[in-house]
Amino acid sequence: MIRLARQVLGHLEAAARRAYPNETCGFLIGHQDDQAVHIDCFALSPNRAADPGRHFTLDPAMHLKLQRQLRGSRFGIVGLFHSHPGGRAEMSPADLQSPAPEAWVWLVLALQAKEGAVESAAFRRAEEKGPVGLDLILF
Ligand SMILES: [Zn+2]
Repeated sequence: MIRLARQVLGHLEAAARRAYPNETCGFLIGHQDDQAVHIDCFALSPNRAADPGRHFTLDPAMHLKLQRQLRGSRFGIVGLFHSHPGGRAEMSPADLQSPAPEAWVWLVLALQAKEGAVESAAFRRAEEKGPVGLDLILF
C-alpha cells in the first residue's frame, strides 16, 4: 500500500503537464512502516534521456546527492515517478527493464493532453512476474 498526500500528487500532476509532450521524472522520498510506504515529498529530476518524448532517465548526480542528504535521516528514496504523455498508467516494457532498484515504488502518471486529466497508478516490479499494482491511498 502506498500513502500519498493529494497535495503532493497535485504537484506531480503539474510537473507532468509542464513537461508534456515530454516525460517528467523524479525521485519519491518517504519512509516505510508495517502498513505502507509513505511518500512524504519528491525531487523533480531533469529528464536525461536522449529522447525525452518517449523515455526518461533520472539524473544520476541528483540521485547520489539525495542519497547523501538523506543518509542518517528517517527518510529515504522509496521510488520514482514519471509520466506517460499520450500513454497509459501502466508500466511499459522499457520500464520493466529499468536498472532502478527492485524495491522501488513506481508512480506512473498518464495524460493525453497538456491540460487534460492525469491518471496515476503505482507499481512495484516483482522478479519474473512483471509489475504488481499497488493500492494508492490518497489523503
Ligand atoms: Zn514509462
